[in-house]
Amino acid sequence: MKVIVANVSGFCGGVKRVLGLAYDACRQCTGRVYVAGELVHNKEVMENVKVAGVKLLGDCDLEKITPQDVLLIRAHGCPREQWAKFHKLFNTVIDGTCPHVVRISKMVECESGKGKNILIIGNKSHPEVQTLVSFVKDGNVFIINSEEELDHLKDNLGQILVIAQSTIDEDSFKSFASKISKIYPNAEIKNTICGSSRRRQQAILSFKKKGVQAVVVAGGRHSNNTQTLAQIAKKIGLVAFHVETASNLPIQKLKTFQTIGVIGGASTDKKTTKEIVASLLVLEN
Ligand code: SF4
Repeated sequence: MKVIVANVSGFCGGVKRVLGLAYDACRQCTGRVYVAGELVHNKEVMENVKVAGVKLLGDCDLEKITPQDVLLIRAHGCPREQWAKFHKLFNTVIDGTCPHVVRISKMVECESGKGKNILIIGNKSHPEVQTLVSFVKDGNVFIINSEEELDHLKDNLGQILVIAQSTIDEDSFKSFASKISKIYPNAEIKNTICGSSRRRQQAILSFKKKGVQAVVVAGGRHSNNTQTLAQIAKKIGLVAFHVETASNLPIQKLKTFQTIGVIGGASTDKKTTKEIVASLLVLEN
């Protein structure tokens, strides 16, 4: 068996940044460090930050907040209404929103302020999409995730800006974009998929050229970018195994392949990917 490791691994810039802010806050803050919702969609990483002192903000905590406590906004950002609520509750709010998400939010705010409608290609229940929606000023916002939903859009959407959730499959986005520009010739289309997601998706495509038959994608079950990597692998005809840690590897199944690719999602620690590679290398010999 041969194991090929993707040339991109470890946390993306946004995750690295928010984790740094979380650990710094735990060291420096004299009160509690809260986060509203999972900081990143990765169980192992969340366990580590909880050990360092980060607490998930629950309804029962709202009564206990002290002036020393801080709230950290996660990399996906947070809707504006929530942002205002957090500023009322906490003396200190640390903004861990990924700079890429901040850029898209500003674009949405500016273009919708000019009266444009916003069309987001992505998952409406994802926190990043909910953040983007909250930045829409005057125009309407539409979110679609399938061709069927595209068919159900109105015939005339007027001036429209089309953007992507930053972690979706770039090929699908391009296919949506080409259909949208035929239906709405005036649509302005911005590919807002982030560089980290794009590089990982390209790594999956390059696996195919290198003769990889099966791919191990390491990352949280609920991580959108990790799920997307596994879906892309399947779409191009590779067998994909989405695992959270080395202990989840389906060893017997993996033994049936000659060339295996390994890649980690944007919120997967390099250490996890290394452990997976080490377990596979044992099979290699
Ligand atoms: S995956 Fe992309 S958008 Fe999301 S946190 Fe990482 S760099 Fe930012």
